[in-house]
Amino acid sequence: MAEQVDVVVAGLGVAGEEVAGRLAQAGLSVVGIEARLVGGECPYWGCVPSKMMIRAGNLLAEARRIDGLAGIAQVRPDWAPVARRIRDEATDSWNDRVAVERFTGKGGRFVRGSARLVGPRRVEVNGEEYEASVSRVEPLAKTRDWQSPVKYFEATLSLVKDPGNLKPGQKVRAVVRLDEADGVLSIPRGALFEKDGKRVVYRRSGSGFEAVEVTTARQSISHLVVGSGLAAGDVIALRDPSASRSQASSASAGPVGPGT
Ligand SMILES: Cc1cc2nc3c(=O)[nH]c(=O)nc-3n(C[C@H](O)[C@H](O)[C@H](O)COP(=O)(O)OP(=O)(O)OC[C@H]3O[C@@H](n4cnc5c(N)ncnc54)[C@H](O)[C@@H]3O)c2cc1C
Repeated sequence: MAEQVDVVVAGLGVAGEEVAGRLAQAGLSVVGIEARLVGGECPYWGCVPSKMMIRAGNLLAEARRIDGLAGIAQVRPDWAPVARRIRDEATDSWNDRVAVERFTGKGGRFVRGSARLVGPRRVEVNGEEYEASVSRVEPLAKTRDWQSPVKYFEATLSLVKDPGNLKPGQKVRAVVRLDEADGVLSIPRGALFEKDGKRVVYRRSGSGFEAVEVTTARQSISHLVVGSGLAAGDVIALRDPSASRSQASSASAGPVGPGT
């Protein structure tokens, strides 16, 4: 069984460490996986050690220019102090303890090992599986605009499958399915009426509509699941056809549909 976390960052080089640290600081549960050293190439093998070597080389070259310009200098190159500085001052003997603590100090969980993608949102390291599902619902509701009583909660969702054509900052209209019901008959809420203390739906019969008593089971914000009284394919009125003759003749109708 995979452990559920918000984000898994595989590889904590310069980029991964920054991303993982920021997300952890923002309150997400983050697992950071690094096969070698947290910080990556730059501090241990790239930018920093190379600049120490280049600085040493430039110093030697400059010292060799003293003769004839500013006196006499004897220059005897030695790699040992350069190597010592890289080992002691830059890389801590290629030990990333400080960097690991920097990440865990932000709230991230560190795992040393080689990460492997084993499925959508699933990462395996050292025999453990982690399933990422970036999903965060803001705890405070926001007002859509000052005139509307409607409030909303901001949510962050992860895409199980990247459609490939999304751009950073792009706005999309999304439907969040909280529940699904298979193999049921559903009607719009507005098609259910109260008549003589009974819950009825007006079903087309010949050239008019007849009231049929129904029972309802589950409901969503827009639909009701019908337990009994209707069958698939029945055509029902979406307005009360008995309200008045003029309304009756213009009552719109639609078929009973599956699902909600
Ligand atoms: C000699 C040299 C000098 C450089 N000088 C400079 C410079 O002066 N300025 C500059 O801006 N850039 C410089 N660079 C480049 C710089 O080092 C890189 O651009 C930078 O390190 C890239 O960072 P990154 O996070 O993308 O990748 P990396 O630093 O390579 O980090 C990737 C990390 O992911 C880990 N990893 C990979 N696969 C997995 C896996 N499956 N599971 C777990 N961990 C994994 C690796 O171990 C690594 O630690 C230099 C590079 C070199 C070689």
